[in-house]
Amino acid sequence: MDVNSANIEQIVKQVLAQMSGAGTAPKANGPIPKTARVAMLTKLEHFDVREFPIPELGDDDILVKVEGCGVCGTDAHEFKRDPFGLIPVALGHEGTGEIVKMGKNVKKDSAGKPLAVGDKVVTCMIFKDNPDITMFDLNKQNVGGADVYGLLPDDDYHLNGWFSDYILVRGGSTIFNVSDLDLDSRILIEPCAVLVHAVERAKTTGILRFNSRVVVQGCGPIGLICIAVLRTMGIENIVAVDGNEQRLEFSHQMGAGAHVNFKNYKGIEELAQGVKDAFGGYLADFAFQCTGSPAGHSNIYKFIRNGGGLCELGFFINGGDATINPHFDICSKEITTVGSWVYTLRDYATTFDFLKRAQAIGLPMKKLITHKFPLDKINDAFITNLKQEGLKIAIVNE
Ligand SMILES: [Zn+2]
Repeated sequence: MDVNSANIEQIVKQVLAQMSGAGTAPKANGPIPKTARVAMLTKLEHFDVREFPIPELGDDDILVKVEGCGVCGTDAHEFKRDPFGLIPVALGHEGTGEIVKMGKNVKKDSAGKPLAVGDKVVTCMIFKDNPDITMFDLNKQNVGGADVYGLLPDDDYHLNGWFSDYILVRGGSTIFNVSDLDLDSRILIEPCAVLVHAVERAKTTGILRFNSRVVVQGCGPIGLICIAVLRTMGIENIVAVDGNEQRLEFSHQMGAGAHVNFKNYKGIEELAQGVKDAFGGYLADFAFQCTGSPAGHSNIYKFIRNGGGLCELGFFINGGDATINPHFDICSKEITTVGSWVYTLRDYATTFDFLKRAQAIGLPMKKLITHKFPLDKINDAFITNLKQEGLKIAIVNE
């Protein structure tokens, strides 16, 4: 079937408008059905939407009616190759929804905010015990993944991924009340937290300042959100680098002052000059590398001034080796580099405020969600994602 994505977006927008209007959507205090649909990845590149009974809740559990969930790069890797060996699995970790039922022991979210039926929530894959613990620490302690809804080995209930009608949030999981954010913002929390963390990592170098010249390479959702985070913290001199003119145009709406299309340059020397020209004759003080391309990593040092800084966050997964010249690229220039991966719980909570600030200064964050599909079209959603059409793709329940 030929899916006209623009039309789908239009239709979903209308449905959402109706939902937020006269209260036609099933309300929290309405009857809870006996079964829930769950999109199970049953083999490579194929989801089956299956129906499972909604179980009785334990005293510490929370039943959430799913409103929507973003498709993450990690989901796409799982769909294509199952690198974690999870099939059959219920995916979806960038999800959000409304509490419809709670065990009697549940009173507060992980930040101490009261929780009630009707509240809008998100889960977080980081434990609540230590707000500054990173994914790196979790891996080190070999305790990562316990709360990672949407990337868990399947259990008896199957309601453990956000690509579904209902999700069962078990007692002890990290959960936040984000009722003060709209649906699109809530779907964007998880990817935005990645950038809040990256910018926090960048700040540890001591190089990033209000008046820094900052280059952001890669204008997929991660690079574009990076620009937005920098912009909301008052950094104004941002140059975006990518090979896609449409994405580069959009980077201006997120806060980039100038852009450089690498396809218009022959060789790295010329490209570096292009970046320099975009800053009015200066190299960057700081660079964020947001592509998963080894060539992207090799090139970015050439955009940075002597004594400048680099945050590498593009390689969420192993994208292969990159070649650099340690003398010219790092030593003789005295570049300070930091790596960034996932986020801490503190970054996650910071992200709620980032989204409000972004809205307050008029950054069109919602435009990052370019495609919305209903749950039963999840295979189409993933195919669209793999074709790298649009930016953030989301499953939104009617
Ligand atoms: Zn994600």
